[in-house]
Order: sequence, then structure tokens, then C-alpha cells
Amino acid sequence: MAIDDVQHLRAVEVRAGESAVLHLDDLFRDLGGAASRGEFRLHYQPIVQLRTGLTVGVEALIRWQHPTGRLLYPDQFVPLAERSGSIVAMGRWVLDEACGRLACWERAYPEMPLTISVNVSVHQLLYSDFVADTARLLWRRGIEPDRLVMEITESFAACSERARQQIQGLKALGVRLAIDDFGTGYSSLRTLRDCPFDIVKIDRSFVSGIGHDVRDQQLIHAIIELGHLFDTEVNAEGIEEREQFTVLSALGCDVGQGHYFGRPLDAGSFDAFMHGAYHAFRHSEISGTSPLRLNGGTRAPRFACDEASRLVGAVAPRAS
Ligand code: C2E
Ligand code: MG
Ligand code: MG
Repeated sequence: MAIDDVQHLRAVEVRAGESAVLHLDDLFRDLGGAASRGEFRLHYQPIVQLRTGLTVGVEALIRWQHPTGRLLYPDQFVPLAERSGSIVAMGRWVLDEACGRLACWERAYPEMPLTISVNVSVHQLLYSDFVADTARLLWRRGIEPDRLVMEITESFAACSERARQQIQGLKALGVRLAIDDFGTGYSSLRTLRDCPFDIVKIDRSFVSGIGHDVRDQQLIHAIIELGHLFDTEVNAEGIEEREQFTVLSALGCDVGQGHYFGRPLDAGSFDAFMHGAYHAFRHSEISGTSPLRLNGGTRAPRFACDEASRLVGAVAPRAS
């Protein structure tokens, strides 16, 4: 185990330890059977088309309802699952549950063009049957492959040729692929050039700079232009304020997600949200548009970066 890994796991243990009940060894032990004991949960966050404000997708985010009663967040157990190998079973559960939920929404709201996004760890990608498993699961759930988005962080680019082959396999299957947390890895441009991604997700650390740091805004502008140059949809993560939404819309960002539109919610609460989203969709001008057209063909008019700044007033100069 590399020193970095040990330090990371210790950090997890300390955070979990703050609950005064959970320790690394217990988490390791419990994680293996968590999927079969039905302890994982998915929370759902809407993905909104910025031009119209309509919900066009949903990201599924895992939580672990630990037997002690605590709801654990992914940074407290996903690294452990990756280390222990239980990430494969966990990932399979996530995919099945998320596709099952999409199938329910498709039945309830058949005309609504929705995608479901799941996060995929590099360790899942390296598992040899991953593409075949995904194909079987989509077939069983009756989901068209282009309704599924798999979000992969840039770190995969540092991994083996095997991961790249799996990416190609998923692409051939028709699944849509997103680079998550774009800009935080170290091989962004090469990833864009070499891999068949459909969506770039701008990391929220840049989005949070809107209105405070002109350089973040310039970077976002550049990422949006770059994404469109490579014909990928651009999604901005972590939109919390109206100002961020306004600037991103003005810069031509396609879709976004964040607390401004909706926090991740458990399945029951999200069903109520979906009901409202469907109502908005039904009364919109784009009712009846296919999801691919929605995501690719209705780009917002773009403004220059400084014009976008003017829309929300002067951007404060960065403190040096
Ligand atoms: P991510 O895929 O980039 O997900 C976005 C994270 O930002 C989520 O945290 C979400 O709750 C949070 N978030 C969303 N909107 C806002 C906002 O407006 N402000 C702020 N401050 N945060 C916001 P979460 O759920 O704790 O997930 C953290 C990470 O864990 C995810 O980052 C993803 O990399 C990983 N993860 C989540 N679910 C899974 C999963 O099923 N499998 C795997 N392998 N990883 C997962
Ligand atoms: Mg994600
Ligand atoms: Mg992200």
C-alpha cells in the first residue's frame, strides 16, 4: 500500500472516528456485506438545462446506512471499497438501483427525456466483465444505453490501457460518458483529445469562484469553449447561487446542478421533486424533444467572458 493510500485511509478513520463508534477495521469488515444486507441508499440530484431551467437528467449519489444508524457519505467509504475490492459489488448495486429508478420514471413520465448519471470508479473499469455486465443490466431493466451516463474522474487517464479499452467498450455499447471534476486532474486536455467523452463536468471549485475570482470565470469560459470545440456537452457542478447560474448561462454552459436547483434527495423525496419537474416540462415549449436533441442541439447563445461579468456586475479583483 502506498504512503498516500495509508494517509488517506487514516484520514477516513479519523473522520469516521469523530462519530465515536466507527473505526477503520469495522468499516472494512462491514462494507463487504453492505450491498447484500440492503444498507446502501441512493440520493438523487437534478441536472438542469440552463437555457430552459428544465430537469433533463439526474445524478445518483451513494450513501451507506451503517448498522450503527449513521448515514455515511461516499468519501467515508468509497476509498475503502476500492481498496477492499467490494467496489465492484457496490457499483453493480448502484447501476441496478439507478436504472431501476429511471425505468420507474420512464413509466410515470414517458414523454420526458431523462438521463440517469452514475459515478464509476476506475477500479470498476478494471474489472474485466464490466462492459458485458452493464449491457446485461440495461437490457434487463429495459433502458436504452444513451439514457445512462457514466461519470468517471480524470484519474482514469493515469491508469492502464485496460481502462481506456473499457471506455471504448462502453462507448460502443452506446452509453454516454462524462469526465467528472474536470480541471482537477492532471491530464484534462489529453483526456479530451484521446477519449470519446460526451460530457465534461466543470468541478465546483471553479464555479464557487464566480463573482469573486475573475480567473475562475475565465477558466470556466475556456472550458466551455474547449468542450464545445470537442463537441461535448458542458455541465457545471456545484451551482449554489443565482449569480453563478446567470454567468454560466451567459457563457453558454449547457447544463448544471447544485443546491441552487436542488440538493441530493432520498428516493421518496425526489419522487415529489420529479412530479414538479414533469409538470414544468409538460408546460414548456420543448415538450416532445428527444434527449439527444435536448443535450446537443439547443445550445444557449454565448456571450464573451467580460460581457457575462457585466450581467452580474463587476467581478471583484482577486486579492493577491
Ligand atoms: P461527484 O460525482 O462530483 O458528486 C458531486 C458531489 O457534490 C456530491 O457529494 C454532491 O452531494 C455534492 N454537491 C452537489 N451540489 C452541490 C452544491 O451545490 N454545493 C456543494 N458544496 N456540494 C454539492 P457526495 O454525494 O458526497 O459525493 C462525493 C463524491 O463521491 C462524488 O463526487 C463521487 O465522486 C463519489 N461518489 C458518489 N456516489 C458514488 C458511487 O455510487 N460510486 C462511486 N464510485 N463514487 C461515488
Ligand atoms: Mg459525479
Ligand atoms: Mg464532480
